[in-house]
Amino acid sequence: MNFHVLTLFPEMIMNGLETSILGRAAAKGIVSFEAVNIRDYTLERHGKVDDYPYGGGAGMVMQAEPIYRAYEALVEKIGKKPRVIYMTPQGQTFNQGIAVDLAKEEDLVFLCGHYEGVDERVLEMIATDYLSAGDYVLTGGELPAMMMIDCISRLVPGVLNNNVSAEFETFHDNLLEYPQYTGELFRTLGIVADYIRNVEFVCISCLFIERIVLFKLRSNSGYSVHIKRMIVKRISSCNVYRIESACGHKVVSY
Ligand code: SAM
Repeated sequence: MNFHVLTLFPEMIMNGLETSILGRAAAKGIVSFEAVNIRDYTLERHGKVDDYPYGGGAGMVMQAEPIYRAYEALVEKIGKKPRVIYMTPQGQTFNQGIAVDLAKEEDLVFLCGHYEGVDERVLEMIATDYLSAGDYVLTGGELPAMMMIDCISRLVPGVLNNNVSAEFETFHDNLLEYPQYTGELFRTLGIVADYIRNVEFVCISCLFIERIVLFKLRSNSGYSVHIKRMIVKRISSCNVYRIESACGHKVVSY
């Protein structure tokens, strides 16, 4: 899967994406990241890419022409018109379901705005999706783009070491992942087996019945009733009897 980012700050994108799991996936050729510098496509002198808002108003607006020219060059290189996602606080809030949908694409283009945003005319021509990182305003679209690319990449087969792990992560199937423990001796709370005996836990074996996983359902856990219902939905899909007999804890319902 190929990610193309139209940006005024290409080094920010590349530095952010070429590390850790994503960097290794790119090195193996499972995904590719490209940051296209919009400034390289301006026809104006001194690399100018912004202008005053037409009709007045605060700040500057990114010009349409350099963005459109950068997009045209990308389309020619890719050989087809890809989905172009404009990063905007006015868009639909990104979530795991949107990531699953986007992960089906071979090429995705992320357009990062800056200043007061982007000239609407070019958005009307090239943007297919409008996505937001959340209900707050950031300086530019680079961080939201990196965040979304990270999330989508994890769904591309081969990116995570274990092919099944994305399937069990939080928000997959609208559920939460169980708490994770290491086998280390944590001197403050002891070993896991002792620790769980001392706290109120509901034990859930979701898909691997032999691997008893634990989900804390204490009233003071901070989980909302909605979340608790989601957890119970997961419990009910398991063999409750075997879970209870394996761990000795009662599965509660909400
Ligand atoms: N004037 C714009 C408004 O009020 O909607 C905000 C412009 S913001 C300072 C500059 C750029 O940052 C936007 O064009 C967008 O690309 C990006 N941006 C800011 N907040 C964002 C968010 N929550 N999600 C996605 N992109 C965001």
